[in-house]
Amino acid sequence: MLKQLRNECRFTLTIHTEGPVLIKSGHSTVSGPDMTPVRTYRNGNAEVYLPGSSLKGVFRSHIEKVIRTLNDDVVCNPFVKADLDNQNNQLICPKYSEVSCGDKFELRQKDKLLVNRVPWRRHPEKEVLSNEVVYLESCPACRLFGSTSFIGRVAISDAYLAEDSQQRTEQRDGVGIDRFTGGAASGAKFDLQVVSSGVDFQTNIYMRNFEVWQLGILMLILTDLENGLIRIGSGRSRGLGNIKATVSEVSVNYLGIVSGRSANEVWGLGKLMNNGTYGTDTTDQVTIQQEPIEETQGFREETRGVRNITTFRDKSLQNLKQATIDTFVAKIQSWEMPETMQFDHLEFQQDGGRND
Ligand SMILES: [Zn+2]
Repeated sequence: MLKQLRNECRFTLTIHTEGPVLIKSGHSTVSGPDMTPVRTYRNGNAEVYLPGSSLKGVFRSHIEKVIRTLNDDVVCNPFVKADLDNQNNQLICPKYSEVSCGDKFELRQKDKLLVNRVPWRRHPEKEVLSNEVVYLESCPACRLFGSTSFIGRVAISDAYLAEDSQQRTEQRDGVGIDRFTGGAASGAKFDLQVVSSGVDFQTNIYMRNFEVWQLGILMLILTDLENGLIRIGSGRSRGLGNIKATVSEVSVNYLGIVSGRSANEVWGLGKLMNNGTYGTDTTDQVTIQQEPIEETQGFREETRGVRNITTFRDKSLQNLKQATIDTFVAKIQSWEMPETMQFDHLEFQQDGGRND
């Protein structure tokens, strides 16, 4: 998308295991446990770690649930793909609005959708979708976390053992669940090796070119992690995966010359671009607390090279969370899925031998 970098947000998250956690490696061992945690070689040792991709998946599905609670039917299901029934010229899917945004864009670009039910698009020609259209028609979760059509704005690195934390794992018995009775399946006992309680991991979270409501999503994830409301890894229904996370400071940076911003304002991409492109709003800003904003509340501002760096800790971090989460809630409550993305029963047409 944007070739420019206008703003960014960074913080380091410390994840503390509150109980056994298992992020499966996918490898079974020859004589050891049937399931073991993922490991990587670090400092010459095979160390357990939490892959950034797993964390991102967990955060995304948590946020999808929150969004559905605030406004049903504005977020896609990233795992649902549409299929085409060639005999009946129908899309085979439970509900088109649930199909992943990436798959919808793919269908539109392949000229598979006959849009004769949409009066303003009488000529169902193969659509050429600009980055801008893809961004502004994507659902809120895809706009932040990405889809097959859009790379997303947030990056989460792998979480490695914190410097003063020891690697501790333990053996657990797993019991296979009988699919028919729901009871324990006989002979389906298996061994798990899990990361023990009391281990600290650290990861870096980075978001670029964000709108204020997207910062609100990150701050909501952060708040729910701090309160132990998000579990990670396998066996969550069996009580595994309890964690709590902490963040000591969040930094919000602006690049280039930004004039007119007061210290107590956070400006999103819409305000910084100030032209309404990419479905952004020129009023994309939030006031985080009354002026004067004080260092005693944990706020700091400095300029390094081309970056204007604002740092929030303690009280000012609490205020940043509350203000941006409020913005996120208001944004989602008034969100409307574009009609091109929401029809339940669209017919499609054969693509007439055109190569896709
Ligand atoms: Zn989506």
